[in-house]
Amino acid sequence: METELFSGAGESDLAGLLKRFFGYESFRPLQEEVIRDALAGHDTFVLMPTGGGKSLCYQLPALAKGGLTIVVSPLIALMKDQVDALQEAGVAATFLNSTLNAAEARLRLAGLYNGDYRLLYVAPERLMLPEMLERLSEWRPGLIAIDEAHCISEWGHDFRPEYRQIAELRGRFPETPMMALTATATERVRADIVSQLKLREPKRYVASFNRANLTYRVIPRNQPLRQVLDVARRHDGESGIVYCASRNGTERLAKRLEGQGIRAVPYHAGLDADVRAKNQEAFIRDNVQIVCATIAFGMGIDKPDVRFVIHNDLPKNIEGYYQETGRAGRDGLPADCVLLFNASDVAKQIGFIEEKTDANEQAVARNLLQQMVHFAETSDCRRRSLLDYFSEAFTDENCGACDNCLEPKETFDGTQAAQKFLACLYRIRERSGFGFGLNHVVGVLTGADTEAIRKWGHEQISTYGIGDEFGRDEWKVIGRELMRLGHARLTSGRMSVVELTQEGSDWLRGKAPLELTRPVVAKPKSRERRSRSERAGEIECDEILFERLRELRQELAAKERVPPYIIFSDVALREMARDCPATLEAFGQITGVGEKKKAKFGEGFISEIGAYLDEKG
Ligand code: ADP
Ligand code: ZN
Repeated sequence: METELFSGAGESDLAGLLKRFFGYESFRPLQEEVIRDALAGHDTFVLMPTGGGKSLCYQLPALAKGGLTIVVSPLIALMKDQVDALQEAGVAATFLNSTLNAAEARLRLAGLYNGDYRLLYVAPERLMLPEMLERLSEWRPGLIAIDEAHCISEWGHDFRPEYRQIAELRGRFPETPMMALTATATERVRADIVSQLKLREPKRYVASFNRANLTYRVIPRNQPLRQVLDVARRHDGESGIVYCASRNGTERLAKRLEGQGIRAVPYHAGLDADVRAKNQEAFIRDNVQIVCATIAFGMGIDKPDVRFVIHNDLPKNIEGYYQETGRAGRDGLPADCVLLFNASDVAKQIGFIEEKTDANEQAVARNLLQQMVHFAETSDCRRRSLLDYFSEAFTDENCGACDNCLEPKETFDGTQAAQKFLACLYRIRERSGFGFGLNHVVGVLTGADTEAIRKWGHEQISTYGIGDEFGRDEWKVIGRELMRLGHARLTSGRMSVVELTQEGSDWLRGKAPLELTRPVVAKPKSRERRSRSERAGEIECDEILFERLRELRQELAAKERVPPYIIFSDVALREMARDCPATLEAFGQITGVGEKKKAKFGEGFISEIGAYLDEKG
């Protein structure tokens, strides 16, 4: 039925297919190379961050080439959305999973035998059923794409045993190119994917993990509700996720936001499945603005227009933080990532770590946490710090989209402070023969009167109470910065203590001048400067018209029973509100407007734009 659409579309006209079906003018980095390799019959391995545009890598070959493309995905909940989106774009796609009743499944199978479809989405456990494999042989798939390929690796964060069976596919379909896609960056998982799937001399593509349209900020948490509200109000009506450490925390925050007139729902693994599904649906369909969630939320959503991600509590590690913030701004428009940081989170997390019984696990967790804290407290570019974690160099001096680059932190001559802190470590050890935790050290410096200090006689050492120029929290920040600089370190035993390092004692002898970051501790937040200047991905447009077009989109989406972003992305709406197309031809120039959407929605949007311009005069 779709065949006329394909006539004459050879693989050389990839750009034509891209515009015709998806309405895009150009490829994202690496997409075209991956597509050409797949079409040439090579196995491919594609590592792209969230929002990098992985889906297109297998969707376009499916259009350029005859036959059926099989997409293996573990995310059953997403399949319907993905297929809906393809159908809206005029691509014949379908899925098979446990949500279909027998009659519906039979109908789809008949269509598949008929050659009606270009893409079939299927979960691995279903694909690997013997009868399904038989059918597959008859359909002669042109490409097999394994999405979320890290699920095959036990080293990944999302291992699924059923993925292991997919390994058989390579032997069964020796002629069919396979494509493995993932956003998980660790080297070990990458290597594991390639060997587990038995990819044949795969062409490997690794995209940059820099998400240029995301702005990273770390703000000292003092009034979390107000701070979340600030961000939400700056993004009036736009979608956001607030990650909280506890289930209770998500529910409490959602209630409080509701109390302030912001539509918010909680999401965590302890909610009933139907409540969870309902809340997720409300978020995806733009019926609520914010979802307050534990890290259980995110894998199963594809929403491209999440405009902010806030972390209300400190994440356990950078990998998690990167994945969670990565859910913002998939569409490429600017989005904000805000980490509300309070030093008390560190102590809390260390407490959890100390509950672990396995010493090795403890050491790993502590090390990961330390890197996370480093990210939170660094005065260097946040982007560089993140990319550094993934061994990717970011060489620009100033990224222009993180708090430290936009509003550089003040530094001060910390020579004296460092001297006091390090000398205190030395004296404590001299007195007691071993080290103490950061809290204790800071207590000694600030002259605290605690039982432990009296018990060990630390009120008698010379550094007791010499640090009254800073508060306890400020001293902790200074202490952690000195650890980052290598002058002190946290031991990795069961009770971690702060020790002077060799470097630290050398420095104490010479006392070369030392710049430290001025500690900012939960002091009332100064009005944040809103940097409107050229954010990466920004599309300036008539904001009032944009709002009207969003409303129109919402109505259409409700009528079609699909999420609004499946009708048009925010990128498309912003371009419409900028270019104000008055003809179908002009409308067709908008990013995301392919042939089918032009025919289906063009008139409606053009007349809405016309009406607005008339009213405006
Ligand atoms: P990933 O799966 O890597 O997270 P997606 O495939 O969901 O990324 O793509 C992210 C967003 O980018 C989607 O909204 C998609 O429509 C859009 N996109 C993908 N490729 C292009 C392109 N070449 N031009 C414009 N937008 C694109
Ligand atoms: Zn920066």
